[in-house]
Amino acid sequence: MAGRYAPSPSGDLHFGNLRTALLAWLFARAEGKQFLMRVEDIDEQRSSRESAESQLADLLTLGIDWDGDALYQSTRFDAYRTALAKLDTYECYCSRRDIQEASRAPHAAPGVYPGTCRDLSSEERVEKRASLATQNRHPAIRLRAQVTAFDFYDRLLGPQTGPVDDFILLRGGQEPGWAYNLAVVVDDAYQGVDQVVRGDDLLDSTARQAYLGSLLGIPIPEYIHVPLVLNARGQRLAKRDGAVTLKEMLLDASLPQIFSALASSLGYEGVTSAPQLLEVFDPEKLSREPYIY
Ligand code: GLU
Repeated sequence: MAGRYAPSPSGDLHFGNLRTALLAWLFARAEGKQFLMRVEDIDEQRSSRESAESQLADLLTLGIDWDGDALYQSTRFDAYRTALAKLDTYECYCSRRDIQEASRAPHAAPGVYPGTCRDLSSEERVEKRASLATQNRHPAIRLRAQVTAFDFYDRLLGPQTGPVDDFILLRGGQEPGWAYNLAVVVDDAYQGVDQVVRGDDLLDSTARQAYLGSLLGIPIPEYIHVPLVLNARGQRLAKRDGAVTLKEMLLDASLPQIFSALASSLGYEGVTSAPQLLEVFDPEKLSREPYIY
């Protein structure tokens, strides 16, 4: 069984991404698991091959290695289509604005699709499909969920219950595209991933993914959501925060210094390489608090 890191290739990884990648590698390697790499390039407009190659090169420079070749999601569309065909789904014709308006209703839960298109008649569907077609747009495909919440276990955070709605499996619009929540579940299963270490900004999607896995008969992986790196104002670190990518940091610091800063952010001082950190890494001692860069 295996852990993995799954970067989205839109620009270089920053200090926070590198730290999450390092943690995923440490958790897997500390337990003798395989460590796999997956390039999440399903969003063709935002992804580029150059970003992917640059991200992978940076990870290797830091000593974060993986078993086998990186899997590119852009090669996996047939698998997503096969999974979609197994699920109970419906077409959704809502624009982003329709959803925003509907979710302003008094009892609407934030970020949850209110089910506007769930129970349309076939006549209504024909009409709405035709009207979208005049704008050269395709409907989205949503899961017809049978639950509104789902339980999962997070090794750092303990038992969790998260929201499940009729989430999108295939995005609509002018250029339909596979949705992250579907692709991540199908690919983790395909790659034999049983340990998902990632930033805790994704905690909110996890119940949806675990539920989808249960519908597809996929074993649910162990989840480990790690705290993010924040900037001095307490916001999630981003590239605009300055010299945060490996290439930028290498302008003023040596590789051992940069590694030592990553290790220090995990609570280990004076550690300058990945193999050295692996020797001392203790998963139980990881801080549950965000790290301020
Ligand atoms: N591709 C996602 C990201 O870069 C991570 C997805 C995941 O780990 O499940 O934020």
